[in-house]
Amino acid sequence: MFDKVLIANRGEIALRIQRACRELGLKTVAVHSQADAQARYVRLADEALCIGPAAPGQSYLNIAAILFAAHVSGAQAVHPGYGFLSENADFAAQVEAAGLSFIGPRPESIRTMGDKVAAKRAMRAAGVPCVPGPDGSLPDDPEAILRVAEEIGYPVIVKAAGGGGGRGMRVVHGAAQLLEAVSVTREEARRAFGKPELYVEKFLEHPRHVEIQVLCDTHGNALWLGSRDCSMQRRHQKVLEEAPAPGIDPALIRQVGERCVEACRQTNYRGAGTFEFLFEDGEFYFIEMNTRLQVEHPVTEMTSGIDIVREQIRIAQGHALTVRQPEIRAVGHSLECRINAEDPFTFAPCPGKVTAWELPGGNGVRVDSHVSSGVVVPPYYDSLIAKVITHGATRDEAVVRMRLALAEMRVEGIHTNVPLHRAVLEDEGFCAGGVDIHHLERWLAKRKQA
Ligand code: ADP
Repeated sequence: MFDKVLIANRGEIALRIQRACRELGLKTVAVHSQADAQARYVRLADEALCIGPAAPGQSYLNIAAILFAAHVSGAQAVHPGYGFLSENADFAAQVEAAGLSFIGPRPESIRTMGDKVAAKRAMRAAGVPCVPGPDGSLPDDPEAILRVAEEIGYPVIVKAAGGGGGRGMRVVHGAAQLLEAVSVTREEARRAFGKPELYVEKFLEHPRHVEIQVLCDTHGNALWLGSRDCSMQRRHQKVLEEAPAPGIDPALIRQVGERCVEACRQTNYRGAGTFEFLFEDGEFYFIEMNTRLQVEHPVTEMTSGIDIVREQIRIAQGHALTVRQPEIRAVGHSLECRINAEDPFTFAPCPGKVTAWELPGGNGVRVDSHVSSGVVVPPYYDSLIAKVITHGATRDEAVVRMRLALAEMRVEGIHTNVPLHRAVLEDEGFCAGGVDIHHLERWLAKRKQA
């Protein structure tokens, strides 16, 4: 049992985790780079330690510095947040080897799910529906490679087993391009991920991105908390998320949710996790599992009433989950707009000093943000500065509340993508619900022409 938590992250999620710790009566230790020394969550933490210069490699990714900070502060647990070291199995292992609790899955689970071939094999074994294609990695023999793709049927996608962040994959429309694509992707995988292993699967042309949130304790209890739709993406980056995924038969979602929970039991999974699927023509296809808290977790909190971060911490303390699956219901609908410090037209990052900062409020409105007036948004990190989340009895109500919330929001000194969100919230396709993962890019292309 621990009573002091080191938060190995920055920005809105550092504050989010700190709040959950405080609610549970736990002390918090903020670690920060020189660039974040003035941040609000650093000030609010019980203790704060600077772990290095602005460059993430020397601070937020510096395992030795973070472990040292835990040692000198007497923290007994580490929450990695998302990004940075959150899906680094070696980090999780080193935290545990130092005698601390890692607020996340077991290092082995992070390692298995980080290998997409191993992950897919584990999911198939548990009956989770996967994208058509073999469970194993691609052979070297050109004839054999061509045969694998032929059997799946074109178009196919060649993916690196160790890939991430939307990199290390290539779509192939016919046999003539396959071998070239395999060799280029293999080289890229070798360089970027340190392992050349590839696999191939069917390329789905108009899927939606639908994911399932799970929570598992160390007493054999596993829950799924409903679905999220994150199809509104630009360059594989999620922009606006919602829960539940609109227009999908709840019975089908339940079936998939139960398979996810079964997979968690079979792999002895611990903590929070997300099963990401592509959804096309009424079918779910597993693509990967994220072994961490997600940026978009609040939409599930709003509809399920469950505080996911608090549960993560309680699970790490060895507590059993207090709710049972039949008690979990998706109530109403929730949306989240990711507010980035960036130009709403060119998407160029726009760091700088925030001179005015007025946040929306009111019934069904939640804002997760570490920013305030006078704060400087540093150029070294992700440009996410706030998440505006709304909840309503229906999807339409959540959309109306989001429009009103964004109209109230005032940010001066830097550019943000608030105008982009406001325009998208008027788009007919989005308002109808259920758009595919290419919808936003198509919308942006049209905006450019207009
Ligand atoms: P990463 O770990 O790099 O995010 P994913 O496997 O999650 O990789 O895939 C990222 C994105 O690539 C998906 O959200 C989807 O847009 C696209 N993608 C991946 N696999 C397929 C597929 N089989 N068919 C169509 N699109 C795919």
